[in-house]
Amino acid sequence: MKRYLLALDQGTTSSRCIVFDCKGKEMARAGREFRQYFPAEGFVEHDAEEIFESQLAVTREAIARAAIDPTEIVALGITNQRETVVVWDKTTGKPIHPAIVWQCRRTESECRRLNKAGLAPMIREKTGLPIDPYFSATKLAYILDHVPDARARARRGELLFGTVDTWLIYKLTNGTVHVTDPSNAARTMLFNIHTLSWDRELLRLFDIPEAMLPRVLPSVGIFGKTSPELLGASITIASAAGDQQAALFGQCCFGEGDAKNTYGTGGFLLMNTGEKPIRSKNGLLTTVGWQIGQKTAYVLEGSVFICGAAIQWLRDGLGLLASAKESEELAASVEHCGGVQFLPSFVGLGTPHWDPTVRGAVFGITRGTTRAHLVRAALEAMALQTADVLSVMQEDTGLTLPSLRVDGGAAANDLLLTMQSDFTGLSIIRPASVETTARGAAMMAGLAAGIFADLDEITSLSAVDRSFFPTLSDSARKKRLADWHAAIDAAIAYSRAITL
Ligand code: ADP
Repeated sequence: MKRYLLALDQGTTSSRCIVFDCKGKEMARAGREFRQYFPAEGFVEHDAEEIFESQLAVTREAIARAAIDPTEIVALGITNQRETVVVWDKTTGKPIHPAIVWQCRRTESECRRLNKAGLAPMIREKTGLPIDPYFSATKLAYILDHVPDARARARRGELLFGTVDTWLIYKLTNGTVHVTDPSNAARTMLFNIHTLSWDRELLRLFDIPEAMLPRVLPSVGIFGKTSPELLGASITIASAAGDQQAALFGQCCFGEGDAKNTYGTGGFLLMNTGEKPIRSKNGLLTTVGWQIGQKTAYVLEGSVFICGAAIQWLRDGLGLLASAKESEELAASVEHCGGVQFLPSFVGLGTPHWDPTVRGAVFGITRGTTRAHLVRAALEAMALQTADVLSVMQEDTGLTLPSLRVDGGAAANDLLLTMQSDFTGLSIIRPASVETTARGAAMMAGLAAGIFADLDEITSLSAVDRSFFPTLSDSARKKRLADWHAAIDAAIAYSRAITL
């Protein structure tokens, strides 16, 4: 009797595996960090072999911890760090260059050139993305430009390209399957999100040989079977999706207007916009959530660069906190921020301002300001930045959200979630299982394997830990948002004044 689902959650700093039973209950987990390489200023690389080895090791470990027989596993699902580029030799299966990680900025000047050449509108129209080193295209072109003979070899079909999902599936199937899904393909800047296929004009622009690209299959469906010697049985690979999209699925955001926010180092807000891609007027990304059969769910995505990292900075940079957790108790020890406004825009302002020159700021300090005020202002800033992204999402879609679902490390903070509810006027829902990324991958695989009849059944298996409701009056909320925006305007004005 087959009863279990596996989620392989390959993240930026660690590889993890969680075993779920067929009711979505977690049975066991294992995780392992792997090495980050910073070969030059702004360069970030991974060893693709180490990514696979660590993922394989934790998968074996999780199966062993769950004390199940591998033959009892119905299917596995893959979710992964997005945009990271791997290129390997088709014959040997060996990477020809270190994996270039999504964070890597080495192609910044190339992106500036493409922007100057006026290509941004065409690229945004086709891919839903702005031109940025973040996405795979310029990283892949970089490898083809820098490894001797690579482009010619790729043209001859001797080299293969993949994002991390593709790489893992290739390795797990012993080099027999070269595929990806639309949620991962949509982050390459080579994929047309309307036709759901690789875009010939973009391939020509970046000089990427089509022969090296993976076949794109629906996110929920059969990708292949693992080679039996790897995990003790031949397990069906039944889903693949990028990490944020898998989290949206794991949060059961299946309907139009359903949204989730992840409070991690940065913040990731994704909204399901239904079967049509929506163009943003505010710089949000238009991307693919997942494809099930012929049905595609599109999403709008906005990110907050510095979210939980603001708390990290108060802890590690200023030494104001012993732990991130302490922020809640300390912030709750004062009733308000005492007029302090903290803008953690350490690396510039993202959505909806898009100004990389702005730096962080603290306003409104008096002799009476305490560390509690500053910490409370940092938590408020996490919620206010998220409220701003949410507000432009509602503007772009014309949708009014029923609620916002949350996860990520800082979603453990009840005070933060109350603030979030206050600043958006929405109810905030924290699920019982905050492992939404892995859960999403496992639920997708279970759907493909026929364990779950439909999305409703998956929704019925998810439980809420706690909901948070607004406590502020409308006028108090408006005042708080107006003060926050005044602080942002002041920070922008300052950055203009000093650069003039
Ligand atoms: P990531 O996956 O991005 O590394 P996590 O989801 O593990 O991050 O969240 C860690 C971040 O959340 C850190 O930046 C930390 O400062 C912040 N954080 C963790 N716990 C809390 C808390 N209780 N209150 C506020 N922030 C927190």
